[in-house]
Amino acid sequence: MYNKLTVEDVEVKGKRVLVRCDFNVPLNDKQEITDENRIVGALPTINYLIENGAKVILCSHMGKPKGNPVPELSLAPVAKRLSEKLGKEVVFAADDNVVGENAKKAVAEMKEGDVVLLENTRYRAEETKNVEEFSKELASLCDLFVNDAFGTAHRAHCSNVGVSALVQPAVAGYLIEKEIKFLGNAVNAPERPLVAILGGSKVSSKISVIENLLKKVDKLIIGGGMAYTFFAAQGKTTGTSLLEPDFIDYAKKMLDNAGDKILLPIDTVIAQKFDNDAPSEVVEGDIPEGWMGLDIGPKTIAMFKEALADAKTVVWNGPMGVFEMPNFAKGTNEIASMLAELDATTIIGGGDSVAAVNQAGLGDKMSHVSTGGGASMEFLEGKVLPGIDALTDK
Ligand code: ADP
Ligand code: MG
Repeated sequence: MYNKLTVEDVEVKGKRVLVRCDFNVPLNDKQEITDENRIVGALPTINYLIENGAKVILCSHMGKPKGNPVPELSLAPVAKRLSEKLGKEVVFAADDNVVGENAKKAVAEMKEGDVVLLENTRYRAEETKNVEEFSKELASLCDLFVNDAFGTAHRAHCSNVGVSALVQPAVAGYLIEKEIKFLGNAVNAPERPLVAILGGSKVSSKISVIENLLKKVDKLIIGGGMAYTFFAAQGKTTGTSLLEPDFIDYAKKMLDNAGDKILLPIDTVIAQKFDNDAPSEVVEGDIPEGWMGLDIGPKTIAMFKEALADAKTVVWNGPMGVFEMPNFAKGTNEIASMLAELDATTIIGGGDSVAAVNQAGLGDKMSHVSTGGGASMEFLEGKVLPGIDALTDK
């Protein structure tokens, strides 16, 4: 379990503080920000530093410019939006080499409480290879490093791991602190019963999650497209549903080992086409030839809800059906509504699961909605996240 220093554990007044944020926000073709959630998510750490008299230097990547100064992926729109959110000027250091003349000059002129934003860190080819030269340049700008970008914590890049090794102390911001608290406790010291809900499209992409969680949970609920490989392992027919034949044996083994810990759907909403408007039916057990499972059925929803009723901690990764199509979103939405009302610590991880819960308007009813798709998955897999590991221990 991580026990890292946080912004509140160190003196920040008068210090040049470099903060790795996750400003990887979606832009439309006019370079306008279409979803500002990640900017909003970064505000608590930034405001804390401003209020406590730090000189706040922000950095982030955006998209995949692959080491080139791609103008469409400039952080300039983020500087503008951030200025509005903070109600104060954010000086944008427009350097194609990120730590260039503009950045150096802007930092040299900073007063306590000022904010500077550097250009997209992935304009530099060294960034994703964690080459020390760029880490040194970043380190030269600051006295203290704060990592608040959970979304990239599973990667070892210059702007998180590289710079952490060169600037001491390197501490966690509020976002990362919250991710560690919720995901870490859920996996390592949960209030029980602990129930995990796994779904989504593929068993193959979730094997390590299944294995790690099976060791820890009291119950494991499996829904979504991955359930049909387990159906096949039980000897059921699956029609044209998603199926990973190479993983049927694996699923069998899991069922043999975990026995009654694993709950699988007992009925399925099926259709003949992968289409929201395709006529649907509900079947129990076998899925007939020519039909595919697109959501869990009503009996399964009731069974899963019963299994969740006494849970004290719930971790959810992977939708229960094709939630992008309204006619097959019911299973996912019903489970989300149930969790929203449950007297338990509820944690949502995974890009699509988070999208599903937000689509249902229930994001704020959960204890924690993880901001990092890949990073939260690796946390649930029990892996060490290099971006967090590199921070200074308490
Ligand atoms: P997450 O991003 O939360 O980890 P995944 O990426 O594993 O989740 O899976 C999400 C995808 O799984 C969604 O696009 C959803 O439509 C799909 N899915 C869920 N159930 C089914 C199903 N029965 N058939 C086909 N696709 C499904
Ligand atoms: Mg996904």
